[in-house]
Amino acid sequence: MSDFTPTSRTKVRQKPQRGVYERAAIYSILDEAFVCQIGFVLDGQPYVMPTNYVRVGDRLFLHGSTASRMFRALAGGAALCLSVTLIDGLVLAPSATGHSINYRSVVVLGKAEVIEDAKEKFEAMHAFVERVIPGRWESVRPPGEQELKGTMVLAVPLAEVSAKVRTGPPVDDEQEYIREVWTGVLPLQLTPQEPVADPRGKAGIPVPGYVRNYSRR
Ligand SMILES: Cc1cc2nc3c(=O)[nH]c(=O)nc-3n(C[C@H](O)[C@H](O)[C@H](O)COP(=O)(O)OP(=O)(O)OC[C@H]3O[C@@H](n4cnc5c(N)ncnc54)[C@H](O)[C@@H]3O)c2cc1C
Repeated sequence: MSDFTPTSRTKVRQKPQRGVYERAAIYSILDEAFVCQIGFVLDGQPYVMPTNYVRVGDRLFLHGSTASRMFRALAGGAALCLSVTLIDGLVLAPSATGHSINYRSVVVLGKAEVIEDAKEKFEAMHAFVERVIPGRWESVRPPGEQELKGTMVLAVPLAEVSAKVRTGPPVDDEQEYIREVWTGVLPLQLTPQEPVADPRGKAGIPVPGYVRNYSRR
């Protein structure tokens, strides 16, 4: 599995030591998250829209209504910039400007390809469910022909990709540490809360293990 090669557009210039191009490291960020922001320009106006995605091999799949403006624009060949961010902690420094965020983020540049093949669309829908909540697909009704027809599935090839990662404590100069103030990192994590049963769901069905033990890591 070869790593990504930084291009003139994906080479991290600000704090270049935080730039990451190892494919495995980037895929682990993409697989922990499942929401991205997609930037594209339509009629001269930039838009940045949040949406769900899953990685399958060397592509990110997106799905949406065939009526979606964003999906229609991307299907029409609009250039896109897709970003994914995981927040790992708040960095509390002695100085106001030294405050920061520990994060892992990915930026993908490219264009989307429309997936037309019904079997491939079905497999993408399987991936959406199974990657967001592994173990769920087996228990639910799979999508029918009409549902698949009304759903646009796009694939974004992972070719021009960068990641940037900040870890660790504040990086303020030593002279800032004369002040009597707590400094350090407040780690943050996405953690599931107590499941809330659907009031219309069948009574007496226990919460499945894949819900009870859900984790993104
Ligand atoms: C949660 C979070 C909070 C941040 N807060 C700040 C902030 O307050 N102030 C600030 O200046 N910066 C912040 N950053 C960093 C910010 O994303 C940019 O890296 C930075 O502003 C430099 O922008 P630039 O366009 O000059 O980057 P350049 O270094 O010129 O970018 C060149 C290329 O490097 C890659 N790249 C740059 N940044 C990222 C990234 N974050 N993830 C993946 N690839 C990247 C892209 O391919 C980009 O096209 C934050 C990042 C995250 C994830």
